[in-house]
Amino acid sequence: MTALLQIENLHVAYGKVEAVQDVSLTLEAGRAVSVIGPNGAGKTTLMAAAIGLLPSSGTIRFEGEDIGNVSVEDRVRRGLCLVPESRELFGEMCVADNLLLGAFTRRPSAAKLTQLLDRVHGLFPRLAERRHQRADTLSGGERQMLAIGRALMSEPRLLMLDEPSLGLAPLIVKEILAIVRSLRDDGVSILLVEQNALAALESSDYGYVLESGQVALEGKSADLRSDARVFESYLGGV
Ligand code: ATP
Repeated sequence: MTALLQIENLHVAYGKVEAVQDVSLTLEAGRAVSVIGPNGAGKTTLMAAAIGLLPSSGTIRFEGEDIGNVSVEDRVRRGLCLVPESRELFGEMCVADNLLLGAFTRRPSAAKLTQLLDRVHGLFPRLAERRHQRADTLSGGERQMLAIGRALMSEPRLLMLDEPSLGLAPLIVKEILAIVRSLRDDGVSILLVEQNALAALESSDYGYVLESGQVALEGKSADLRSDARVFESYLGGV
């Protein structure tokens, strides 16, 4: 079976700093794959390169096609969608308009738009309650919900989430990651970058541990959770 996303021998550098070195990663359609690792391991860089925001060498295939030379816009058109750590909402616009903008590239019919909105409101009832509220007045958790909701409005083939738990209270993290799991159960393909290793491994099928720009370990998330090395370094072991 052709993988949805196949990255092979990827290198990304900021000048002389090699932030990602020889990384290979495979994501099958309908699966959730997590990338965990400490601060500065290269997780954000890996995602930015996958969507074309940073130049890289190596191979990036999406649905079997080499997209290494494809522009960011075209990668988005093909269905790659990144929810960055900074969320990048339109703060002065209301929740509803932020969501509608998410669907913009797909130019859906009015009926389809309603269907997409209903789905997002079903997943995040709080966004429906706050649809007239300015995005910059939302709480951190609600902003993350809006960022994910806006991404879903574009019906992505691959949803890439960069640190969705960053800066959120533990209860909200649980809520957000429960949504990630339910999206995966609905067949949405997800690449999840997280420093919160336990949450990421509980929300994914397969995981990669990135250290100093390289894959230190990979395996089924359930196996990684019980791996002594992962436990000691990332899951609070002593
Ligand atoms: P975090 O969880 O802290 O975001 P990360 O695993 O996502 O970490 P990256 O942000 O990808 O790591 O950073 C990887 C390496 O590249 C780090 O050493 C970082 O200092 C460096 N780096 C990141 N962005 C730049 C930049 N714009 N210019 C120079 N170096 C950078």
